[in-house]
Amino acid sequence: MYAQLGLTSGFIYQLGEEDMIRRKSREVKPEEIQSKEIQSKIKYLKRCLLKYRKITSMGRGVAGVQVGIPERLAVIYMPEEEDKLLTIINPHIIDRAGDSLKFTEGCMSEGPLFAPVVRPAWIKFKYLDEQGRERMWDKKSDNPAHCIANRVFQHEIDHMDGIIFLDRGILSELTLDSDPQFYEQVKFEEVHS
Ligand SMILES: [Zn+2]
Repeated sequence: MYAQLGLTSGFIYQLGEEDMIRRKSREVKPEEIQSKEIQSKIKYLKRCLLKYRKITSMGRGVAGVQVGIPERLAVIYMPEEEDKLLTIINPHIIDRAGDSLKFTEGCMSEGPLFAPVVRPAWIKFKYLDEQGRERMWDKKSDNPAHCIANRVFQHEIDHMDGIIFLDRGILSELTLDSDPQFYEQVKFEEVHS
């Protein structure tokens, strides 16, 4: 994992690096989404995510700020979807579940650290897609792919506000892991308050 980190740190900003990860991202102007500039930023984000996945076999999503673009855009890897990569721009959370799930998270910008984070089981949010069309995510099923997607979206939306999973994580359970399968083996756990 440490050797892989060296390979990915060239294109993924790490925590503390120029304070990029702590920046609050600005909204993308909807009328500029189709512009060459924004389209090439989206392409770059996709390339970075795929490159990271190729090197580490991990990485479910990347937010602009993680590649030095402090704008409210992110690309999520969704193997079950036809296009595999989903772009979300200017997401706004409208609703969230009352019940929470505990699930271990890692981050492309926080090296080999993993910690469980308790978050709502699902969120409903609207966003603009890469063509600038308004879309809505609202999937509350127990389908594991949807559970993970609901989790990844919350993690990426946090990045847009300069918030990292370690800010929300249970740090007494912080761990390091070099097993690429580690993240896949982690199970969702219901948390009752
Ligand atoms: Zn992250």
